Formats: sequence, structure tokens, C-alpha cells
Amino acid sequence: MLVCGSSFAGLAIARELAGSGAKVMVLDRYELGERQTSACGMPTLWLDALDLGSSLRQSFDEIVMHTPFRTSRWVLPWSFSTFDYRELCALLWSQAGAGGSECAELEIATITGRDGFTVHTDRGELRAPLIVDALGWRRVLSNGGDGDGAPAHPIQPPNARLSRGLEVHPAGQGEQMQLWIDPRYIRSGYSWSFPARDEVRVGVGSFWPSHHVKEPTVRLAGDLNLPADGYQGNWIPHQLRPAIEDEVFFAGDSAGHCLPLTAEGIRTALYFGLACGRELRAVLDGRSTRAQALARYGAFSAAHERKYRWMLNAQRIVGRLTTTRAVTAMAFGLESRRVSDWIFRHYMDIAPPSFVAAGAERAPSRARRPAVTAAA
Ligand SMILES: Cc1cc2nc3c(=O)[nH]c(=O)nc-3n(C[C@H](O)[C@H](O)[C@H](O)COP(=O)(O)OP(=O)(O)OC[C@H]3O[C@@H](n4cnc5c(N)ncnc54)[C@H](O)[C@@H]3O)c2cc1C
Repeated sequence: MLVCGSSFAGLAIARELAGSGAKVMVLDRYELGERQTSACGMPTLWLDALDLGSSLRQSFDEIVMHTPFRTSRWVLPWSFSTFDYRELCALLWSQAGAGGSECAELEIATITGRDGFTVHTDRGELRAPLIVDALGWRRVLSNGGDGDGAPAHPIQPPNARLSRGLEVHPAGQGEQMQLWIDPRYIRSGYSWSFPARDEVRVGVGSFWPSHHVKEPTVRLAGDLNLPADGYQGNWIPHQLRPAIEDEVFFAGDSAGHCLPLTAEGIRTALYFGLACGRELRAVLDGRSTRAQALARYGAFSAAHERKYRWMLNAQRIVGRLTTTRAVTAMAFGLESRRVSDWIFRHYMDIAPPSFVAAGAERAPSRARRPAVTAAA
């Protein structure tokens, strides 16, 4: 089978297929962990649940939120941690059984598109009965746009439902995880500073794709007395897309799994990647057909639609109110431990860490594995 993309979603899928006996080829245009795709912050509980703790760089029990009128401190009911991207990818890859006798293989290739079960790359064509697109926001293996009806493939800003983010990674240290909702940096969006032991990840995200983020990112770094070194940026989908299309599975940003408002997409890429991997594993073990796996995974993703719509509405409200004192009032409200506990627990429940253990059982070995069946 082909897993296209070796970042969070793709590696979570490969992890679930470890020991299945199937030939799993993971494709990416870069070496494993070579290109960091985010500020690499996520709930510590998720790092622990996946046994990725050794990649952890720094943990935070509170968020310091700045608005033009007030600085609020939100005590979290669970901590948030920054981690090292290269190390985390290597850990997930080792959990995928890489190097073992029934190993996943990593191939470097740039994927350009797909016809049916044939994936086109700059190194030739590949065919497989099971194909996953974990290629990020561009949804490269789709032939139908972002599922919103409007933009045809390829998905392109500014028309597609995308936010944008840019950050710098200067050497430095800090004690606080800081956020800004401040129109002096971005009119509709937020800015951040995430320390990671020996570097600080400073960036700006805009909910509006037409708004530029480079100048405010450089300015924020300057305000923090940090040089604007080591740029990293990308588009960020902020609307759920179909998780299956044309018998292909989509997970992570390619399926719009990044959460609107917070742009937290690592935890969700892992969560939906695990869900997708489990369905694929059932096919490889002969417990379900491809059609059943597609239907179950598609329904699982779609079942989160209401929560994603809720987050998108919250993004729109915050985006519209950025210049007003209303955002400061909301930030002040979260200073209450009771309010922040309630909000952050519900927020975590969208993709809870208990999901990792929920599917921990490993399936039968190669000897008992029948061939993949395409029909239901
Ligand atoms: C500046 C910024 C900061 C962010 N910070 C955070 C954060 O701190 N916490 C958080 O939770 N989320 C954060 N996000 C969001 C997060 O980065 C994404 O939601 C997350 O990376 C999605 O994971 P993924 O595996 O779906 O896709 P990606 O991480 O985007 O991985 C896609 C993979 O596919 C490969 N690929 C893409 N196209 C091709 C191709 N044509 N051929 C071959 N390979 C290809 C890429 O090389 C990459 O390895 C941030 C986003 C940005 C832009």
C-alpha cells in the first residue's frame, strides 16, 4: 500500500500498520524530518500516549495571552509542550517497524497527481490497491477540489478555505508560551512565541489568506529582541474536507483536519492518521474490505463536522472582533480556572489522547493475512 506524506498523519498511519506483514511504501519529497512544518507544539498527553516523550523540548502549564488592552494568564488543565520535529518523526518511524523484517519503506519522490489507483511521481508511476493522501493542505491526490464545491483542483489560495502562517526559529530561550491577539501584528488571526529549550518559535497566523504575515513576523521577533532567523511557513486549511474520495483515504491537513481558530493540526493529524491506519489495518488483516474501510473512516471523520463548524464559527467571531475590546473581555473570562478548565477540556475532547490506547491491540500476522479485497 502507498502512504503519501511522511509527516504527522502519514507516520501515524504507518505506525498502525507495523507488523501487518503488508508492504507499506511511504513517499515524501524530503528526507524524514528534514522540513519542519509547524511550531511543533502539542498537548504533552499526546506525546506521552504515543511514547514520544524523548522528543519533548519544553512544557508549559499556562498560556500568556496579550491583547492591546490586557495580558491574561490562562492556567491549562493539561500542559502543552514543544518538541523536536526530526526526533519525533524518527520515533514514529521506528514505531512503524522500519528496519524490521516486515518493514515500511521510505522513498523520496515528488508526487504530482493520480489516476485511479496510479500515483504519478517525478520518479515514475506507482500502483497500489490502498492509497492514502497525507500530503498536507494541497490535497495532491484529489481530483475534486477541497470538497466545498467551489474551487476545482488544484486547491489554491486565496479562494480555498485556507489560513496562512509564518514563523522564525531564532536561537534563544524563554519561559512562557505566549499568544497575541493584537491587530498591530495581524488584523484577523493571532501571533505566538513558543520557546523550545534552545530556540524560540515566533510567528504570525492570519485567518485571511490575502493578508501578509512576513512583515509582522519580523516585527514581533524584533519586539522580543530576537533576530528573524530560520523561516518556516505554510497554508493551513481551516475547514473540514471529505476524508475519502475516489477510493483514496485523506488524513491530516489534506482532509482539513487542522482545527480552525487555534490552527492546531498536529494532534488532529495524528488522531485521524491513527483512525485511518486502523481501518487500513483491518483491510490488510482481512477483517474488512476496502469499501467498508472507506465508509467507516469517511463516517468517522464526518462525525466531527459539528465540532469543526463550531471552531470555524469561533474563528470568524474572533477574527471580526480582533480590533475591539470584546476579545480582551473573552481573554479575561478565561482567567477563571473554572472557565478555562471547561473550555480546554472540551477542546481536548475533539481529539483526546485516550484514542491512542483505544486501538492499541495489534492484529494477526502475515500468515493469517488474506489478500486485499476491493469490493464490499
Ligand atoms: C507556521 C505554522 C506553525 C504551526 N504550528 C503548529 C503547532 O505548533 N501545533 C500544531 O498542532 N499545529 C501547527 N501548525 C499546523 C500543522 O503544521 C499542520 O496542521 C500539520 O503539519 C498537518 O500535518 P500533516 O501530516 O497533515 O501535513 P504536513 O505536516 O504538512 O506534511 C505533509 C507532508 O507531505 C509532504 N509533501 C507535500 N507535498 C508533497 C508532494 N507533492 N510530493 C511528496 N511529498 C509531499 C511534505 O514534505 C510533508 O512531509 C502550524 C502551521 C504553520 C503553517
